[in-house]
Amino acid sequence: MERIALAPLTTLRLGGPAARMVEAPTEGELAEAVRSAYEPLLVLAGGSNVVIADEGFPGTVVRVLTRGVERGGARLTVQAGEPWDELVAACVADGLQGFECLAGIPGSTGATPIQNVGAYGQEVAETVESVRVLDRASGRIEALPAADCGFRYRSSVFKYRDRWVVLAVTYRLRESGVSGPLRYAELARRLGVPVGGSAPLGEVREAVLGLRRGKGMVIDPADPDSVSAGSFFTNPILEPDAFAALEARAGGDLRPPAFPEPDGRIKTSAAWLIERAGFPRGYGDGRVGISAKHTLALVNRGGASTAELMALAREIAAAVHERFGVAISPEPVLVGHEW
Ligand SMILES: Cc1cc2nc3c(=O)[nH]c(=O)nc-3n(C[C@H](O)[C@H](O)[C@H](O)COP(=O)(O)OP(=O)(O)OC[C@H]3O[C@@H](n4cnc5c(N)ncnc54)[C@H](O)[C@@H]3O)c2cc1C
Repeated sequence: MERIALAPLTTLRLGGPAARMVEAPTEGELAEAVRSAYEPLLVLAGGSNVVIADEGFPGTVVRVLTRGVERGGARLTVQAGEPWDELVAACVADGLQGFECLAGIPGSTGATPIQNVGAYGQEVAETVESVRVLDRASGRIEALPAADCGFRYRSSVFKYRDRWVVLAVTYRLRESGVSGPLRYAELARRLGVPVGGSAPLGEVREAVLGLRRGKGMVIDPADPDSVSAGSFFTNPILEPDAFAALEARAGGDLRPPAFPEPDGRIKTSAAWLIERAGFPRGYGDGRVGISAKHTLALVNRGGASTAELMALAREIAAAVHERFGVAISPEPVLVGHEW
């Protein structure tokens, strides 16, 4: 049987072929393709948050190519396959507040609830009202209210599970020409407003895109640093005693960044840990390396394998653990292999 190349469907350009692939251009076809797929199943949309094994995928890949946006006032129901960045641009242009800090994130709208996509102080958990899913356990289509989605930092009930396939997402935005309070210091500075201030939606979007381009975080064929899956590691969230242990391990003048979480834990910076464990931007002289613009992005510099990328990721994580006693974990979904 002909095997289908998956690497070109991913932003990392990595991974072996699939046994089968079904393209789903409508919601009905997406549900039907999932119901009738030969196991195992991989739902693939923009391919910007997956690291597929060199061996490829032995089952059926269902590609989410559905399109369509229904709007009633500030409430939008968006088909899973709608390109996210186009949706953000359209909402900003239409005076809808709630997505402006999430400009430039690649991939599909249906994937945004999967890891509660977020950037620059905003995340989709703030605007998701409900998610229309196909529950593979019951075979039924239902609407999960946001409260049942288990949204957390870069996670939800959907991540690492294949029980639910997202068919459409309903968001509740606000009709306003200006942003909500800007929480991210670097963005507020760029806009010349204090943290907690706001700015016109279009200016916020442009500022976010500018900051992201500077970090190779906008997909650009002319930018080799954008051949990545975005941030490869999530920021660790530590119990207070673990954070105190980290501070003690860091010692001397080194003060690990601390961002208090509502539950009393403390988020620290994976990039800070990685750099201080000996991995600067641009690290690596082979076919994989750390982006020259962003410590958290691992890049395929051309012709690499997933095994090489994962070897680098493990080398970095081991060094961080050795130096600071903190475990860092991958943000993208690993397909056909484990961390
Ligand atoms: C340059 C770059 C910058 C990035 N910046 C950010 C950022 O700032 N913030 C952020 O949060 N993420 C960021 N990412 C990660 C990524 O863009 C997001 O996670 C995005 O939402 C993934 O969408 P996708 O359509 O490409 O998903 P895919 O990579 O196709 O899939 C990712 C996972 O979601 C599952 N999935 C996808 N669609 C569905 C569906 N309809 N139903 C069920 N499961 C589904 C897949 O099975 C897989 O497990 C970045 C990535 C890159 C390459």
